Amino acid sequence: MRLSDYCSDAEWKKIKDFADGKETPFLVVDLEIISQKYDELTTCFPMAKVHYALKANPGAPVIELLRDKGSSFDIASIYELNKVLDAGVDPERISYGNTIKKAAHVKYAYDKGVRLFATDSKADLQNIAEQAPGSKVFVRILVEGGETAEWPLSRKFGCHPDMAIDLLVQAKMNGLVPYGISFHVGSQQKDIAVWDAALSKVKYMFDWMKYEEDVELKMINMGGGFPANYISEVNPIQVYAEEILRYLHDDYGDDLPEIILEPGRSLVGESGVLVSEVVLISRKSRTDLKRWIYTDVGLFQGLIETMGESIKYPIYTEKMEQHPPEGNVVLAGPTCDSTDIMYEHVSYGLPLNLAVGDRLYWMTTGAYTNSYSSVEFNGFPPLKAYYIK
Ligand SMILES: *Cc1c(COP(=O)(O)O)cnc(C)c1O
Repeated sequence: MRLSDYCSDAEWKKIKDFADGKETPFLVVDLEIISQKYDELTTCFPMAKVHYALKANPGAPVIELLRDKGSSFDIASIYELNKVLDAGVDPERISYGNTIKKAAHVKYAYDKGVRLFATDSKADLQNIAEQAPGSKVFVRILVEGGETAEWPLSRKFGCHPDMAIDLLVQAKMNGLVPYGISFHVGSQQKDIAVWDAALSKVKYMFDWMKYEEDVELKMINMGGGFPANYISEVNPIQVYAEEILRYLHDDYGDDLPEIILEPGRSLVGESGVLVSEVVLISRKSRTDLKRWIYTDVGLFQGLIETMGESIKYPIYTEKMEQHPPEGNVVLAGPTCDSTDIMYEHVSYGLPLNLAVGDRLYWMTTGAYTNSYSSVEFNGFPPLKAYYIK
């Protein structure tokens, strides 16, 4: 890999100066990159409200930065809610986007001032009607996209559009505000056309609600799904925006509904570099073609998205600068769990002169890493994260 594909010289110097001398493993998050990504997104979608999906990186400095930039927040639990409220964010800027929630938690959020809830089932809608009377609800629909997302989110969430219509009608009868429709096309979604398919379902529902049920829906929540820069090539956000806005204008003309975006990965992914060290290098037989490289991070220290070898992080080591011959490797973590192998089938090449103690830098690790790290599996502490400016 070429470092310059993932990081400017200045950016790299900043990360490296900070990282040198600190004991690995740890994550360095550059808040400046998140700030840039936020600006880029809001420039691409000037009419949209951004609700940052906190689960991607719930670090307090990230929340504070996005709070100051005017972002709203999408939370999935009352614990995330508390983090955002503790940062002084107005509850009006918070949506409760998880469709799976305890009645007591709905009440808690309502008591704290949250008035915007996602739902995709009768039972959850009933809870919201009882615990959060008068709130706005949006119904999440099932959409395609599982084939082309590197981290699919389909099936578990959302319901068929016909059922979503029933729920919106029910919401109105229960004294709630049937506010809009949401979908999530799957995370790290590479195929822009899936937004088109999702939006045409939404348009059908908007029309149905208007003409058959006399309900004017107000909002489309397009979820997340925009990609970050990993190994495989993706279109820039500008191309996504251009296409998606074209679909929207085709459907609604100039009079767009309120648009909400819930980016996670695309906002924070590229801000992070996970710094690790090679612990052991071995071969399994005298003629083994691949070296096994064991590092001090693995699936339980923040690299869980390598499960199924789904997310393919760019991996950099300074020895690459000498352009030495490279050989294929298997990359594995330090724990005593045999699932703790990051890449075995996806082929990664690393310098043949790589040695124990060398640092491996996992690029684009700002999203879905430290929040996913185990508490003390095999005694390894949770992944440390540093936030720098
Ligand atoms: C995870 C999630 C997101 C963020 O998705 P990304 O692909 O990381 O942008 C947005 N909305 C909801 C409801 C989510 O569950």
